Amino acid sequence: MRIDEILKRKRTLSFEVFPPKKAETETEQLFETIRELKKLSPDFISVTYGASGSNARNSAEIAGFIKSEGIEPLAHVTGGPSSPDEIDAVAEKLKALGVENVLALRGDKPSDYAENYCKYFKHATDLQEYLKKYAFTLGGACYPEGHAECQTLYADLENLKKKEECGAKFFITQIFYDNAYYYRLVSEARRIGIVAPIIPGIMPITHPKNIARIKSMCGSTIPIELRNMLEIYSDNPVLTREAGINYAVYQIMDLIAKGAPGVHLYIMNRADTAFEIYERLNNFFNELF
Ligand code: FAD
Repeated sequence: MRIDEILKRKRTLSFEVFPPKKAETETEQLFETIRELKKLSPDFISVTYGASGSNARNSAEIAGFIKSEGIEPLAHVTGGPSSPDEIDAVAEKLKALGVENVLALRGDKPSDYAENYCKYFKHATDLQEYLKKYAFTLGGACYPEGHAECQTLYADLENLKKKEECGAKFFITQIFYDNAYYYRLVSEARRIGIVAPIIPGIMPITHPKNIARIKSMCGSTIPIELRNMLEIYSDNPVLTREAGINYAVYQIMDLIAKGAPGVHLYIMNRADTAFEIYERLNNFFNELF
C-alpha cells in the first residue's frame, strides 16, 4: 500500500532497520526482530541502503521479507554511489518483490570520498526523475536543522521543494532532539508551499558514547538537559537507557499533541527499544494512531 495513502487515513507508526554488516550470520536475527516488531502493528518499516551501495542486494531482500510478513516496506535507495544500471537492477528487484514505496536519497558521502561519487545522480531529485519509470511512491529526506552542506536552512528548504516537485509524496526527517527545530521546519516548509506530510524521525540516545557519534553523523544538536542526564549517569547503563528512552517518549508526546502526522523510530535494529517506547505510550498509540 502507498504510504502517502496511509498518511491520508491515519497517523503512522514506523521503524527503521538497517541491513546487518555480517549478512550471512545476522540477517536471520534481523528477520526475528522484524517478526517481533510486527506485534506493534507498524504502518511501515524502512530499510536503509549502504552509502557505498554494497549492501543493496541485502537491503532489497530485507524489504521483501518485510512485505512477506504483511508489513509495508519502505526501501531506501541512494543514487550517489550508483550507476543507472545498478539502480535499474535494484528497482527491478524491488518491483519483483512487490515493494511499492521508495525513499529516494543521494546518500552520505563515504569517508574515502571518490571522484565518481554522484557521477550519475548528483542529488536525490536526479534519482527521483530516474525512478519515475518504475512508478514507485517516492519519499524523501529532510533536515530540521538544515543539511550540513547547505549554507542556510532556507536554501535547503528550496531544495526540499524541488523534491516535492519531482514527485516526493512524504518526507522523513533527520533525527533531532529539540522539537522546536521540527516545528520550524514544518512551518517554513508550509510557508513556501510544501504540502507533503513531514514525519518526524526520533532516535533515543541510550548511551553517552552515542552523543559524539550522533553529532558527527547527523550534526543534531543535543540539548543540555539531555546531555547532562546521560553524562551524570554515564557509569550506569540502566539509568542512561531509561533517561534516553523517556526523553524520546517526551518528544513523541509533544509531537503528537502538536499534530505530527506520524512517528518514525530509528531503533538501531533493536526491537526492545521499540517495545519500551510503545509500552510507555500504549494509550497514545492505541487512541491516536
Ligand atoms: P539531497 O537531497 O541531494 O541533498 C544534499 C544536499 O544538496 C543538501 O544540502 C540539499 O539542500 C542540496 N540539494 C538537494 N537537491 C538539490 C538540487 N536539486 N540542486 C541543488 N542542491 C540540492 N544515507 C544512506 O547512505 N543510506 C540511507 O539509507 C539513508 N537513509 C536516510 C534516511 C533519512 C530519513 C535521512 C534524513 C537521511 C538518510 N541518509 C541515508 C542520509 C542522507 O543520504 C544524507 O543526509 C545525504 O547527505 C543527503 O541525502 P539527500 O537525499 O537529502 O540528498
